[in-house]
Amino acid sequence: MITKKTLNLSLKSLRDFAKKRLPDQDLIDLDNRDECPVEIVRHMSNPDNLGIQLLFIPEEYGGMGGSTFDVYLICEQMARIDLGVATSLFATFLGSDPITFGATPEQKKKWLGRIAEEGILFAYGATEPDAGSDLGALKTTADRVEKDGKIVGYKINGSKQWISNGGIADVYTILANTAVGPSWFIVDKGVPGFTYDKPEDKHGIRLSNTAALALDNVYVDADRLVGGVEGQGLLQAQLVFGYTRVMVAAFGLGAGWAALDRAIPYSTKRIQAGSPLSEKQGYTHKLIVPHVARLEAARSYIEETAQRIDAGTEGSLNTEGAIAKYMATEAGDAAADASIQALGGYGYTHEYMVEKISRDVRITRIYEGTSEIMEMTISRDRWQLHLKTRGQHYHDQARELEALDLQHPGVGAGIAALAAHALAEVMEKARAARLTRYQHILLRLGELIAYTECAGSLARRAALLAEGKLYEKANDRFDATAAAALGRIFARDAALRVAEEGLRWVCGAGGVTDSDMAAFETALGLHAIHRAQAGLIADMDYIADVLYSRVAKREEVPALVGA
Ligand SMILES: Cc1cc2nc3c(=O)[nH]c(=O)nc-3n(C[C@H](O)[C@H](O)[C@H](O)COP(=O)(O)OP(=O)(O)OC[C@H]3O[C@@H](n4cnc5c(N)ncnc54)[C@H](O)[C@@H]3O)c2cc1C
Repeated sequence: MITKKTLNLSLKSLRDFAKKRLPDQDLIDLDNRDECPVEIVRHMSNPDNLGIQLLFIPEEYGGMGGSTFDVYLICEQMARIDLGVATSLFATFLGSDPITFGATPEQKKKWLGRIAEEGILFAYGATEPDAGSDLGALKTTADRVEKDGKIVGYKINGSKQWISNGGIADVYTILANTAVGPSWFIVDKGVPGFTYDKPEDKHGIRLSNTAALALDNVYVDADRLVGGVEGQGLLQAQLVFGYTRVMVAAFGLGAGWAALDRAIPYSTKRIQAGSPLSEKQGYTHKLIVPHVARLEAARSYIEETAQRIDAGTEGSLNTEGAIAKYMATEAGDAAADASIQALGGYGYTHEYMVEKISRDVRITRIYEGTSEIMEMTISRDRWQLHLKTRGQHYHDQARELEALDLQHPGVGAGIAALAAHALAEVMEKARAARLTRYQHILLRLGELIAYTECAGSLARRAALLAEGKLYEKANDRFDATAAAALGRIFARDAALRVAEEGLRWVCGAGGVTDSDMAAFETALGLHAIHRAQAGLIADMDYIADVLYSRVAKREEVPALVGA
């Protein structure tokens, strides 16, 4: 296990390296030239230099055996530096995932050992021109080559699209259909019949190489079939979704914060109408504070999920990974966009970096499963829980939050409970009126579920902080008082969103009659949710003061307001 001290050292080396080798001007120039700094990516992967990849590799294969939590922190840090370079490093991790989780011991020893010892780069080849979100539609084939009745190898034919590291990797994991279904194959660069296209001209992450691949009768020996058994490919991919989604979530979080951490100091120096922008409430409470609350709610959910994955008792937590990814990448994208606004005309130029961050972070809502696919994944899974518990799943969660609220009034648990009760009512109404036959309703439920669960998570985090029990590796930017204020701000948003948007879509789909309306509004707890908005401005003032280091100057912190 990596200790907190070792982890902090790795994070520091990463920051120091970035300061020296990837200063802003170099990043801007590389972005302008649309160039992947291959030498830097290789340097970062090299075990004799930074050796970032060692963190991802289990100790028995020469790596450091980092936990999900360690990997989240490194991913966040990498994203703060540059999301293109982060993507390039992540591609090796993703490309080797089918091996880590599905390969035979010999394959693991060979390939993971090579990553650890030689720092070779991988690419992950799943997506195809006609198979993106729906990987089941993949057309690449792997036909058996037999000799004396024994399978000795495979011939692979097909093409892959949008492959990170596509033009720079040493080794590729390629998903292809065998006679019994999709399977992963390990393919070396440069083998006959294998070609890659020129780099894509992308909106963002222009420091990352993305290329299409073509496989024309590419022969691989039978020992290149990951796990040695055909048809396991989608299963092997699914085994790590919780884990990999947490990483992309960390990318959204890191990039969002990178943008805000430029907007915040900028606003202290920019004087308009006689005072700094940082002193204008209409500025901070629109462009900064709400984004901080959303990012920290997502962080809280990422950290809880990472800890649960590391505990190893609940499986791969794919739905939780989807919630973490959905919330953090949407929040990161919104924060970066707000940061452009916060810098005004300067924000709109290349020089001030927030424009680049905004273009870069946009990809996190698309790759590793789009936001819409995340909404569907979240909704389908929690819908099953709703049915299985006869509508009690979120009422039960609400009751747990109410109990927490009694112990820690003021962390937002009571308001999060209102969101959870309202969600249970919305879902029940959707069940009774069979509204999930509308795909839009199903996906909107996914969003409301994600907000509700993150509100609960942030309240729990604030309570743990108050008790001094937050995990030692957890991010400690905000203290217990600030975390509680953030918990309340976000829970208010979640509760209002669930109730109002839930009402909107349920009504919109014809799920409530006129005579039902008043009872439905009461069941949603609209009145209590509206009342819980009291104190919002005071809490936002407080968070603005924390962000701008003005807390010591305040005479008093706001009284903790429960639901
Ligand atoms: C820069 C970059 C790097 C990438 N790196 C890799 C990589 O290394 N390896 C790899 O294998 N792939 C990679 N990808 C591919 C990426 O994972 C896919 O682009 C993504 O999964 C979406 O697939 P698609 O582009 O085909 O879009 P589509 O699946 O066609 O989706 C288009 C739109 O329709 C929506 N949509 C799709 N299906 C549904 C549905 N059933 N209901 C409602 N809405 C739907 C989507 O949310 C999206 O908004 C990368 C992509 C990019 C752009």
